[in-house]
Amino acid sequence: MENGMAGTMTRRVMLALPAGMGMARGQGRKLKVVVAGGHPGDPEAGCGGTVARYTEAGHEVTLLYLNRGQKGCGSKGQKECGEVRTAEAEKACGILKARARFAAQSDGEAVVDGQRYGEFRKMLEAEAPDVVFTHWPIDNHRDHRAAWALVYDAWLGMGKKFALYYYEVSDGEDTVMFAPREYVDISGTEGKKRAACFAHASQDPEKFYALQAKVTGFRGIESGYAQAEGYVRQEGSAGGMLP
Ligand SMILES: [Zn+2]
Repeated sequence: MENGMAGTMTRRVMLALPAGMGMARGQGRKLKVVVAGGHPGDPEAGCGGTVARYTEAGHEVTLLYLNRGQKGCGSKGQKECGEVRTAEAEKACGILKARARFAAQSDGEAVVDGQRYGEFRKMLEAEAPDVVFTHWPIDNHRDHRAAWALVYDAWLGMGKKFALYYYEVSDGEDTVMFAPREYVDISGTEGKKRAACFAHASQDPEKFYALQAKVTGFRGIESGYAQAEGYVRQEGSAGGMLP
């Protein structure tokens, strides 16, 4: 009887552990991870520390950008700006040991229709991911909301076969009404995240990284780490996939 009680208590304790503290379900095999974002810099800002945790553990990560941020360089033309920001994204991915991939959408003009749903799903199917991260759906940038819609539709269409997590773009301006439930300790990888964010030199990283650091510090206070990234896991998604 006593043993039975102890067993029940142990199970309860294990269920109460945050996912980030348990063994990642895919541990022991190489995971394929995709972090989808609207623009160059979004996956790095929301998940850079987590991406570094994955790649340091030998997992394979792709940062999938919906567009090349063509309108985000002030007076520069869109073609030139897209080239600058593509190079910045490649540099950031090099720092995080991730791979960059771009969907062929335009900055600020994301299209969500039957054709784009199909194209985006094909891109994800080609990646065959175990885990996908994307923007939280309530976000002040329309491209971020579009990225969420495209990923969510692919998740449904692919039979919910990859784990699906939502991240916040922690620059204090975009993601709203976000209350994370799971956390990744990025205290040891914050330096790589910082370097990846600063690779986006055209995007005023001094200003935005300071805001991001406040958010990861706050998420750390919530979760008991020095610095943390917070996530919401989609209901119905497999869990236990965070590093
Ligand atoms: Zn963005």
